Amino acid sequence: MSLLEVTDLKVSFNTADGVVRAVRGMSFTVDRGRTLGIVGESGSGKSVSTQTLMGLTPGARVEGRALFDGEDLLTVGEKRMRTIRGAQIAMIFQDPLSSLHPLYKVGWQIEEMVRQHEPGAGKEQARKRAVEMLGLVGIPQPERRVDDYPHQFSGGMRQRAMIAMALALNPKLIIADEPTTALDATVQAQILDLMQRLQREFDTALIMITHDLGVIADMADDVLVMYGGKPVEFAGRRDLYYRQHHPYTKGLLQSVPSATGAKGRLRPIPGQPPSLINLPSGCVFHPRCEYVMERCRVDEPPLAPVPSGLGEEGREHVSACWLPHEAVGLGADAERVRRRAAGLDAGGTDDVDGGSR
Ligand code: SF4
Repeated sequence: MSLLEVTDLKVSFNTADGVVRAVRGMSFTVDRGRTLGIVGESGSGKSVSTQTLMGLTPGARVEGRALFDGEDLLTVGEKRMRTIRGAQIAMIFQDPLSSLHPLYKVGWQIEEMVRQHEPGAGKEQARKRAVEMLGLVGIPQPERRVDDYPHQFSGGMRQRAMIAMALALNPKLIIADEPTTALDATVQAQILDLMQRLQREFDTALIMITHDLGVIADMADDVLVMYGGKPVEFAGRRDLYYRQHHPYTKGLLQSVPSATGAKGRLRPIPGQPPSLINLPSGCVFHPRCEYVMERCRVDEPPLAPVPSGLGEEGREHVSACWLPHEAVGLGADAERVRRRAAGLDAGGTDDVDGGSR
């Protein structure tokens, strides 16, 4: 059994402007010691979904199931959730000051968390753990820095302190929401290396949420791409980066050449993410898709299997798009792929041969 099994999660909010359908049916699993990358633009539902799992979306209407170690996170109640948060599932945010209180010493905050969750731990033992954790995440002179306030740390050190705090109770799962977005490239690489090293050491499962496919290129085992509140593609990392199927995934990759090592100009995806109150009909990506066909404007495509070219250990590869599922990589030009999918082209090509579903 997977450590976390989320099934058909739906999250919506009533607002003065209408119902915001933030997550419209999301399923995924995470196993111990594995990393799942959840990728998408802002408003895709990637953060709302994990915040909901942690009970951090009060007022939301929530449906579905989220079994964590056999216990449904969506029905456990706030009291039980308080014991799970931090001790079994920890979160790392983009802004360390959302976890670190600016008015308390960094070490004291780690000590307090340890003592809250482990009532048997004495003051001295908790302090020892705080120093040990700060040392583990690479804070120099941890015995001295443990008494610093957050503002006395650099941005990178604050992020390290937040990782120390997240790991202090040895959680089974860490959810990191854009953990390096505010950092410069060098510090970002150091923090990602650190997270990867510690994850292996502690055998922790990790969910990395990001808008940037480049960030997880070296660390995710599996990648879930979200758009308009729903997953549009899921695959093992290598399939996702080298044999992606969905035009949105392709667009995300073209906007980060570092993700594939490709050279050339960045190509941002044209247009804006959809309104979650008034979603487009059919495929919600169709107003921005260069491959759009008539059918796309009417019918919403389900997630369906894509033949895996790279054969990653029994990994599933699925995509929610009406284009032929053999057209992986989308190396062909848009018009040729579109004509082939619509049955207008009889001739096969390397890229699109195989016909439509
Ligand atoms: Fe584009 Fe159509 Fe596929 Fe949607 S279903 S991503 S509009 S080709």
